[in-house]
Amino acid sequence: MHDFSLTSGPRNNPKFPSYFSRGALEAYQRCPRQWWLTNAQYEGIPDHHCPGQFSPATLMGLVVHDVLKQWWKCFVANGSPVFGSKAYKSVRKAFPVRKNMLQACDELHRTVPVRNPRVNADRLFGAFSIDDAIDSFKTLLQQTVTIATDLTNGITGQLQVEPEYRITIEVPPLIGILDLVFSIGDRVSIVEYKTGKPRPSHKAQLQYYALLYFIKNGISTPNLRLIYSQNGTESIPCPSPTDFASLKNQLKESICRLNNEGISSRPQAVPSLDGCEHCSVRQFCSDYWDSPHTVSLRMEGIGDSQNEDSRGDGPVFLDAQLQVPPSWTKGATVEVNSSGQRLLVTFPKRCLPPARMDVLAVRILKAAIKHTDKVAHLMITRASEVFWRSE
Ligand code: SF4
Repeated sequence: MHDFSLTSGPRNNPKFPSYFSRGALEAYQRCPRQWWLTNAQYEGIPDHHCPGQFSPATLMGLVVHDVLKQWWKCFVANGSPVFGSKAYKSVRKAFPVRKNMLQACDELHRTVPVRNPRVNADRLFGAFSIDDAIDSFKTLLQQTVTIATDLTNGITGQLQVEPEYRITIEVPPLIGILDLVFSIGDRVSIVEYKTGKPRPSHKAQLQYYALLYFIKNGISTPNLRLIYSQNGTESIPCPSPTDFASLKNQLKESICRLNNEGISSRPQAVPSLDGCEHCSVRQFCSDYWDSPHTVSLRMEGIGDSQNEDSRGDGPVFLDAQLQVPPSWTKGATVEVNSSGQRLLVTFPKRCLPPARMDVLAVRILKAAIKHTDKVAHLMITRASEVFWRSE
């Protein structure tokens, strides 16, 4: 068990970042505490920030993005041949998609578990499907070629292709890494690839990239395209110059607010069902465990109407916070009383605390809970995370 599972919170405050991404500012606006806990410094973690939860979908996205980047670099290195031409077909045929996918996956297998103690490598890489990744690559590429062909229609000149286009702005200090930028003459397309489901935040992300591109290059009307591996493409309206000015001001104000209130002391927590359900620092957030807004995400909410099916055949997955009885000898099973109810908790060996630790409580994310007549059983699955507390 990694020491990260034995810590009850960060050791030091976050450092003020050199640049802010839209995602970080959005997180701060939604819940300042979440930003603080994510960026604070933790003992024993290579880059000190709180390591995030890393799902099989995250892995799929990283591998597909990486191989798409390699493909576009290869396309440019071969002289950016006209789409559909013999030269294009030849470059595409010679590009080893499967081999590159496997290499990208191997690299992540080697590096991610070292940097991130929350990663369950067996679960993560065991669930990865190379064929699904190749299908996603092909779909995304085909749709990109259609968009690029439309862009070049009726115009002569060389198509410029820039994968992973990084933009930093000094005032306000902003950063963005655009998946792909096509340009020919004065026409520009900014493309963002998505391997997951469409979300409203995707549109805001592209409009943020358009703002960065405008500040950097003075071009205020790029085509903005979202390309999904399973949901087609979406054309996003480019903000007007007035909207750009107002967006820039909002970002500036968020950075000022964060600078004034967010670095040195724990800022306000804003518990909500939507915001907390997937929050990857909720194990450290006492407001989450006490809030009436989030009770249905926790075991105390087991009697709520939303959770009534927990008394049916299958388990439900909820977060649980339990006081550990002083008599517990750190065996695999512990019996506790939770809200007047008898509860049997079974821990796999890999999740037990070390003998040296005086354990007082435990917080479990995504525990499987199953009721029988007189007792509730709480089980740790491969999707669960266990955090022991001694204070
Ligand atoms: S658990 Fe909820 S309230 Fe706590 S930091 Fe996360 S989003 Fe904010």
